[in-house]
Amino acid sequence: MTPRMASDSPEHLDILIVGAGLSGIGAGYHLQENCPGKSYAILEAREAIGGTWDAFRYPGIRSDSDMYTLGYSFRPWPEAKAIADGPSILKYVRDTASDHGIEDRIRFNHRVVRADWSSADARWTVEAIRADAQETVQLTCGFLFMCSGYYRYDEPYAPDFEGSERFRGDIVHPQRWTDDIDYAGKRVVVIGSGATAVTLVPAMAREAAHVTMLQRSPSYIVSLPAEDPVATVLRRVLPAKLAYSLLRWKNVLVTMLVFKLSRSRPRLVKRLIRAAVERQLPPGYDVDTHFKPNYNPWDQRMCLVPDGDLFEAIGAGRASLVTDQIETFTETGIKLASGDELDADLIVTATGLNLVPLGGMEVGVDGSDVVISETMGYKGMMLSGVPNLAASFGYTNASWTLKCDLTCEYVCRLLNHMDEHGYRQCTPRNRDSSIVAEPFIDFNSGYVVRAIDKFPKQGSRTPWRLHQNYARDILALRFGAIEDGALEFSSSAPPVDAPERVAA
Ligand SMILES: Cc1cc2nc3c(=O)[nH]c(=O)nc-3n(C[C@H](O)[C@H](O)[C@H](O)COP(=O)(O)OP(=O)(O)OC[C@H]3O[C@@H](n4cnc5c(N)ncnc54)[C@H](O)[C@@H]3O)c2cc1C
Repeated sequence: MTPRMASDSPEHLDILIVGAGLSGIGAGYHLQENCPGKSYAILEAREAIGGTWDAFRYPGIRSDSDMYTLGYSFRPWPEAKAIADGPSILKYVRDTASDHGIEDRIRFNHRVVRADWSSADARWTVEAIRADAQETVQLTCGFLFMCSGYYRYDEPYAPDFEGSERFRGDIVHPQRWTDDIDYAGKRVVVIGSGATAVTLVPAMAREAAHVTMLQRSPSYIVSLPAEDPVATVLRRVLPAKLAYSLLRWKNVLVTMLVFKLSRSRPRLVKRLIRAAVERQLPPGYDVDTHFKPNYNPWDQRMCLVPDGDLFEAIGAGRASLVTDQIETFTETGIKLASGDELDADLIVTATGLNLVPLGGMEVGVDGSDVVISETMGYKGMMLSGVPNLAASFGYTNASWTLKCDLTCEYVCRLLNHMDEHGYRQCTPRNRDSSIVAEPFIDFNSGYVVRAIDKFPKQGSRTPWRLHQNYARDILALRFGAIEDGALEFSSSAPPVDAPERVAA
């Protein structure tokens, strides 16, 4: 059915947030605290709060970074487990929304499809499809804050495997997992080698007859205690807020150190990871074939397993790893390039996500369509030539929320600065031709490589560079000058100007 357009004149809010996941709820909190006079609403495509942590329901779903850094700066993570399960994270996000009255600001079932900026009116007209009412609604706002995550919810990445229609068992993608999928006593093959695969395998191995993880090539897998022993002590002896803050900093520094060391001394880090893997596997295990990636640590996101659960399942014979290529699916399983066959009752395709910038929304500025990939990210959150819009995009080498919290702080500072000076419009403009455009995400993982052409570029220097460094971002976003020459302000309607383009 074609959605019909609601006819009333659009409702206006100072700020529209898009997305009610971890970032959108955090954004609501920061706005209420730091810009209390502003009106705002959150437009959410789904029927629920929580984004990732509500949408993903596969066995064992959990964080793969610690909750002292994935949690908000303003709300201590309340549990002992640092590597937390999906339902606990969802509860944390929901509790934040209800405790701070953010829940009431959410308009569910509103999928934002387009936003048009008018410099004459200094406002966005935002178009959303209401799935429940089959109509398109328009709202206007002075500032648009995209908290829409980084991947498509409607379509996971699921490559076509030859012969898949012949397979007599079930094939499921983890993004489409439902509670009624029964795998008890079944032979399961999980295709993939990323965070989702290493989560699924030990979790399913508890009930399945056997789980085989089928990977094309290995990833770096590091084991950490699910319950951080330092956290257990600090939480016992210190007030909750102080313990949380200390643990957060401890984990920030450790993560930064590991990342730096991985980039500067990759051979040393490889050796350390390998030694840890060997210690946790049975003697004589073929580590070279299954656990020796052909890239350096942190060229792709590292996989983390709590308490070595994956290694434990392999050691106990409940799970196994196969490193090979798929030739074809058969009636009974998968035939591999080596000639081997894997029998299966259930195949789980942990093949990844489809990344998308700005929640798939189209953007126009003063009548011209913006090609997102031709813009350059300013401070990793705004886009060159696009006024009054910020996007919450977390770290790729540390917890997402660390950057999102800082992004929110900056957006609030920016809004207050504009009020103080009577500005209605702020637009990042890259006028320095010596700044070289580079890919927005510095990773060679398949899911990044597949989609990076759709994303904005980053620049070779500050404020266009993404440093992926929390300490540096604190200085820039919490304390740095708002007026830096690259962010252009105006208080009256400027001449109509086409959005900026950057060299591809
Ligand atoms: C299985 C899994 C595990 C992860 N584990 C970690 C981890 O341990 N540590 C870490 O740092 N990161 C992790 N991530 C990344 C994770 O997505 C982020 O940590 C975080 O949850 C993202 O929050 P968000 O609110 O920015 O985005 P999301 O959780 O994706 O929420 C975005 C929300 O915006 C809504 N939305 C999107 N587009 C539109 C639109 N056009 N209109 C209206 N609404 C829209 C969506 O419906 C959704 O509710 C994980 C991701 C996955 C998939």
